[in-house]
Amino acid sequence: MSHFALQNGVLHAERVPLSAIAEQYGTPTYVYSKARLLENFAGYAAPCAGRDALVCYAMKANSNLAILDILARQGAGFDIVSGGELLRVIAAGGDPGKVIFSGVGKTMAEIGLALEKGILCFNVESIPELHRINEVAGRMGKRAPVSLRVNPNVDARTHPYIATGLKASKFGVAFADALATYRTAAALPHLDVVGIDCHIGSQLLDDAPLLEALDKVIELVDTLADEGIHIHHVDVGGGLGIDYGTGEAPPVPASAYVERVFARIDAWRAARHGGKPVKVIFEPGRSIVGDTGVLLMAVEFVKPGEEKNFCVIDAAMNDMARPTLYQAWMDVQPVKPRQGTPVTYDLVGPVCESGDWLARDRALVVEPGDVLAMMAAGAYGFTMSSNYNTRGRAAEVLVDGDQVHLIRRREDPAELFALESLVK
Ligand code: PLP
Repeated sequence: MSHFALQNGVLHAERVPLSAIAEQYGTPTYVYSKARLLENFAGYAAPCAGRDALVCYAMKANSNLAILDILARQGAGFDIVSGGELLRVIAAGGDPGKVIFSGVGKTMAEIGLALEKGILCFNVESIPELHRINEVAGRMGKRAPVSLRVNPNVDARTHPYIATGLKASKFGVAFADALATYRTAAALPHLDVVGIDCHIGSQLLDDAPLLEALDKVIELVDTLADEGIHIHHVDVGGGLGIDYGTGEAPPVPASAYVERVFARIDAWRAARHGGKPVKVIFEPGRSIVGDTGVLLMAVEFVKPGEEKNFCVIDAAMNDMARPTLYQAWMDVQPVKPRQGTPVTYDLVGPVCESGDWLARDRALVVEPGDVLAMMAAGAYGFTMSSNYNTRGRAAEVLVDGDQVHLIRRREDPAELFALESLVK
């Protein structure tokens, strides 16, 4: 069941009319459904029950503390890409022992922080990074658990900006170099080689490329075992897509995909891995939070043009970057649909950029003051937002049944320049 549906002519989040949220908290505002968040997480967690497996939510998708806290209470671990994200996990009550640290550019300070907090594993992307982690761990008198992010050169068949597993990608260690890189890691005195990981891209509508990548990864685990390098966990990355309203049919809930991963792992362990235990880690982001959220925005003006009609709204590219960044198509629905003849509009924001558009060629019946909802905006929405044009970032609200919780208040303009100083 969708947790964002029309009830008595008004779009609701669970049992709360979105019009009431817009009135109370203003616009633009992100609204999340707690029930949908729990459902999506359960899609991964339920098939993991009773197995040595961990769901590390890729918090770059949405890192609000309230979201992290809810997931931590469900047993989630976290996939982080910065020291700041680690501090967020801790602030939300998450367990650093369930954190994996991804990303190509970890600084010395971030590595030190992660070692001090005792994270589960560093997902390492290059030989220089191995040396850096080894050096920091040595100085701290610790051993750093590492996994190598290998690049299986599988085509994720997604937008080039969110495909990460190809040879031309900046991410990961080339498959052909993986063995040599593992040998380097195994020889460094302050590292413990514990895992292998890959992440081939995002918004995948078919799990076949993910399973193809997994096959390549487990083959490599066998090769490593022959070399005396024993891998204790296989991290299959994230990447499952969601329905953005254009007829996509993603593998939802995730449980069927998770079961397929376990089936492959179990068959491999029985046939080639001597039945030895292997922990399985998942790093989903978008498929946990994407369809848990909408972005509410109000119509400021309708502006007829010679070639195009514009619907000027109070949300902009700084609030939601996906359309202009990836040419992403995001569904937009009126919160209180009107009767009338639809007009085709481009939905544009007030930011001074021609690239400031949120939707193009949408047939809508709207008037100034109407509230619109951008659907499936819960992932890579707020987290990618900025203060461009000195615009305060949107408020964030979580709905739980008929309860509404403000989980991040709207930024005040004075806060946006509070860190700056005049030169006297
Ligand atoms: N893991 C890594 C290393 C990533 O870079 C990303 C996204 O960029 C994810 C997991 C999450 O991907 P998704 O949101 O598509 O599940």
